[in-house]
Amino acid sequence: MATTPRIAGEEALDEAVAILRGGGIVAVPTETVYGLAARADSDAAVAAVYRVKGRPSFNPLIVHVRDFAAAQALAETDERAAALAEALWPGALTLVLPRRADAALAPAVSAGLPTIALRCPAHPLMRALLERCEFPLAAPSANKSGAISPTEPAHVAVSLGAAAPLILDGARCEAGLESTIVALRGDGRWEVLRPGPIDRERISGILGAGNEAVASSGAIEAPGQLAGHYAPVKPLRLGAVAPEPGEFLIGFGEIAGDTTLSASGDLAEAAARLYRCLHEADAAPQPRIAVAPVPREGIGAAINDRLRRAAVR
Ligand code: AMP
Ligand code: MG
Repeated sequence: MATTPRIAGEEALDEAVAILRGGGIVAVPTETVYGLAARADSDAAVAAVYRVKGRPSFNPLIVHVRDFAAAQALAETDERAAALAEALWPGALTLVLPRRADAALAPAVSAGLPTIALRCPAHPLMRALLERCEFPLAAPSANKSGAISPTEPAHVAVSLGAAAPLILDGARCEAGLESTIVALRGDGRWEVLRPGPIDRERISGILGAGNEAVASSGAIEAPGQLAGHYAPVKPLRLGAVAPEPGEFLIGFGEIAGDTTLSASGDLAEAAARLYRCLHEADAAPQPRIAVAPVPREGIGAAINDRLRRAAVR
């Protein structure tokens, strides 16, 4: 048994396919964060993902498909889903759709829900993997449940160790934040369940703002909605303009800090660097973390969403 994971590039694709085909798990790069992949049609493989992450069984997984046709084999799609996929797939958008009765999916993937979350990722290595697999891949973020998401192979290795024996190296994640999750309801309404790299204006531009559902009832449908999630080990203070004693400050724009999300105040850069900075802050000698204010426009909404959850203990 390996005691440390192996990090390998494109040359390990065939090996990754063989592991997945046999019901094993492989850590994979995507443009959002690294995922812990398993074949979505196998109860045992999906169970291994929940076990390795320590993920509660009520928290469903996102299933990754190679294209919209593959999505149509798993979910009931309509013209709204087709329009979103046409405009934004492959990309950082997850669609929550009614699960097809005949879908070849392990029941645990959707944690007993009648819906399924589907995404077609853009990362070239993940796409190459999906092209080679004759099954869809369930892949939540490749970290212990509730912890900071991984945006580079080393983060996966530290969080999961030998439990994820092979990590496909696709360099740093470009977007750096988990996908935007949009639920398409049967009554014609739609709802953003989790903000992400694709902002709601982009979605409403395609689906029409008038059909956006009012914020959900409070029942947790996507555990990305859980108050405490994506959290560092240390306490975190938001909206900091200067560090207090014992704080590692993550800056933004004019607030320099010990490290910065983006010195130039660029929100896309801040999103891409958010988890990297949180990992760095967790590893720093200071016992606490502070983060400078980040504007809320565009992807800033998703950054603030993650920061708010990271601050809840
Ligand atoms: P992660 O893979 O760690 O980014 O988490 C996946 C997110 O997708 C979680 O917030 C899940 O709750 C959400 N999700 C997966 N399947 C569904 C579904 N059928 N309905 C609503 N949310 C879902
Ligand atoms: Mg996660």
